[in-house]
Amino acid sequence: MKIGVLALQGAVAEHMRSIKSAGGEPVAIKRVEELDELDGLIIPGGESTTIGKLMRKYGFIDAIREFSNQGKPIFGTCAGLIVLAERIEGQEEAHLELMDMTVARNAFGRQQESFETDLPVKGIDEPIRAVFIRAPLIKEVSPSVEVLSTYKDEIVTARQGHLLASSYHPELTDDYRLHAYFLEMAKEAAAAKE
Ligand code: GLN
Repeated sequence: MKIGVLALQGAVAEHMRSIKSAGGEPVAIKRVEELDELDGLIIPGGESTTIGKLMRKYGFIDAIREFSNQGKPIFGTCAGLIVLAERIEGQEEAHLELMDMTVARNAFGRQQESFETDLPVKGIDEPIRAVFIRAPLIKEVSPSVEVLSTYKDEIVTARQGHLLASSYHPELTDDYRLHAYFLEMAKEAAAAKE
């Protein structure tokens, strides 16, 4: 499975390493044409306003919406989750508007700007190691979005069909099981096409 990592800004190399560890073939994506060859796409963490701006500049908003329309899986982590959301609390405009949820940016407050925890995730046997850095929270989801994990009663992992989102960075540890989970989504989507 060829998995692209959107390489405009943010934690790109770490996602590439995790995809490789999980048995996939990672590709850094800088131009929209490069989306064609992919079975799945990761939108990394970083700074969502910057990523959104660069996506607009290089034509990625329409191109990724089209990618999603084809049923190809997309995984947004941290800023990538914000970019996927239909609604961002306190902001008039969102970015891709693909996942039917409302997110709040930098939602953990100052004392907890960054921390690590072992997080149980539905569909994965044992808790995964999750790194939160100025992380967003999922405040509200539509019934079509499945909640895969919560941290202190707040939603931090969710899935809507072929779309997956995490508030945290799963790529900053050597635990690649969430990447393996995403690879399975890509395999299922590819098999459904045949
Ligand atoms: N706070 C960042 C934002 O709002 C996200 C942080 C991250 O990706 N680690 O875009």
